Amino acid sequence: MRVVVQNDKKGLMVGTAGLLAVAALMSGCAGPDSGSTAHPAAGQPRPHKAAPAPDSHAALVAAARHWGLDAVPLRAPVPPKVKPRITARDGFEVDGQVEDDLPPVFTTIPTRQKIVFLTIDDGANKDPRFLRMMNDLRIPYTAFLSNYLVKDDYGFFRTMQSEGHTLNNHTLTHPYLPGLSYEEQKDEICGMQAIMKKQFGKAPTVFRPPYGNYNGDTLRAAKSCGIKYAPIWDEEVFVDHWEYREWDRGLHPGDIVLTHFRGTDDWDGTMVDDMRRFLNKVTREGYAVARLEDYL
Ligand SMILES: [Zn+2]
Repeated sequence: MRVVVQNDKKGLMVGTAGLLAVAALMSGCAGPDSGSTAHPAAGQPRPHKAAPAPDSHAALVAAARHWGLDAVPLRAPVPPKVKPRITARDGFEVDGQVEDDLPPVFTTIPTRQKIVFLTIDDGANKDPRFLRMMNDLRIPYTAFLSNYLVKDDYGFFRTMQSEGHTLNNHTLTHPYLPGLSYEEQKDEICGMQAIMKKQFGKAPTVFRPPYGNYNGDTLRAAKSCGIKYAPIWDEEVFVDHWEYREWDRGLHPGDIVLTHFRGTDDWDGTMVDDMRRFLNKVTREGYAVARLEDYL
């Protein structure tokens, strides 16, 4: 059995951004009413709350200021009409990958546009301020949920879903999957599919193996549970630093960025602090945050 273990390089701390001039707050908007993918896709529920939808430039400037950002996040381009072809990253394939049409493991979406995708894992911390911040700033993200951490409050994630964000599968109990048999792996993945269907109305087609570790059985089991994609990540954001998979230690067009639902129990800051670090860096480097599912 082949085990694919991700070898993430330890990152160095990225220096805290200096405060930019207030004028920089104006730089992030393409203009009033410019198109954005940060809205619920057609057919998805709109937010229930009567909170003002911050679609105007002025509202985004105010939101950026309110949440302490250095600049207004850039708006994502209109999603492509033709989706890119997603294949397994070189070296991340398993035996039978193509022949058996197994879900590809990848870390970047092929695109030339300066966009990154925000993915948030596990589900331990449930900070309502995080929901408000992302809603105010119209930042799309994808959550990978592990049942043992979310089952005490499915409602928190239903709110997230109602605001246009996608919930995906991250197993029942977050095990090291390559250490389990095929049947055990299938129980972990299909079991979470069943819970997500019941709690959120839909079994996802996107799955992330815990720790980014998988083998051929993982992808076969995932496929049998209805999974089509197994994205992992190219960068990981912590509340106080970034870590990079690539030697150049930089962001690239289409990169998938990982962070976790964590708060002060786990690290020295809140989800809001974590998101502030993430957004300040991607905006400073000229990247917008796009919705992963728009490219799958
Ligand atoms: Zn995880």
